[in-house]
Amino acid sequence: MEAPQTNGLSYLDQWEIPRSSLKLLKRLGAGQFGEVYEGLWNNTTPVAVKTLKQGTMDSQDFLREAQIMKSLRHPKLIQLYAVCTQEEPIYIITELMSNGSLLEYLQKDDGAKLGIQDQIEMVAQVAAGMAFLELQNYIHRDLAARNVLVGDNNICKVADFGLARVFINENIYEAKEGTKFPVKWTAPEAMHTGKFTIKSDVWSFGVLLYEVITFGQMPYPTMTNYQVVTQVPTGYRMPAPASCPKVMYELMADCWKEDEHQRPTFETLQWRLEGFFDDVTSYDDASRY
Ligand code: AMP
Repeated sequence: MEAPQTNGLSYLDQWEIPRSSLKLLKRLGAGQFGEVYEGLWNNTTPVAVKTLKQGTMDSQDFLREAQIMKSLRHPKLIQLYAVCTQEEPIYIITELMSNGSLLEYLQKDDGAKLGIQDQIEMVAQVAAGMAFLELQNYIHRDLAARNVLVGDNNICKVADFGLARVFINENIYEAKEGTKFPVKWTAPEAMHTGKFTIKSDVWSFGVLLYEVITFGQMPYPTMTNYQVVTQVPTGYRMPAPASCPKVMYELMADCWKEDEHQRPTFETLQWRLEGFFDDVTSYDDASRY
């Protein structure tokens, strides 16, 4: 067997594809770390291509995470298709989601068409993706509506798992927000110790529930990051959003329990949400805030 080739950036493996097999068609967005394009692979397969700005991270760190991402396959997780790591900028090629990020989807007109049942169905899908990561002992570290993507028929998939660790280690968030963390999504113990767990992901999921119910409103809308950092550890929690079903607020509050061991598992969150979805009759006005 031939030894794997390396140019110092990566090992060539079956995930590596030639850049020439990709056509970048349309820019979908620009993030802190690079740009995202709609593309065509081998002139046949629609894909999303994430280009990573040079020097935003340690390529070895990235490749270690990519190795794990390759093994994570689930219908509610964005599938990694291929990579181009032989020269910079590194490309990450994933499945294409027709409606972009959940945050944008909620905020624009489409969001206005969503009813409570759609909202519950969407967060149940996020919980299902996260329940799979939980089972694999994998931690997302940056779960938020901006990191969930939406396809046709309100299909939701969790994106960017694994990348957060690389980027957070590179203090990208520090550069952007004056702090290391996406403060309003980060559990107090993770903020305090820098240690992320699946239970800090559950906290973030509670914040994502809030984003979905409010059609993409900024969490803690009247508070600065500094106020959140100082007040949440002493017990402050967001109040229920207007007309939020009581059962949904109870779920958020459970995700925001101070003792992380008291927070539900994603498996439990998934079945509770799927239960709400079945029980459509419970959403009369009496059960809302
Ligand atoms: P990001 O840099 O990951 O925040 O991505 C920037 C924007 O590109 C997102 O807000 C989405 O609108 C879009 N985007 C990222 N990944 C995909 C994808 N796989 N399919 C469709 N749109 C995407």
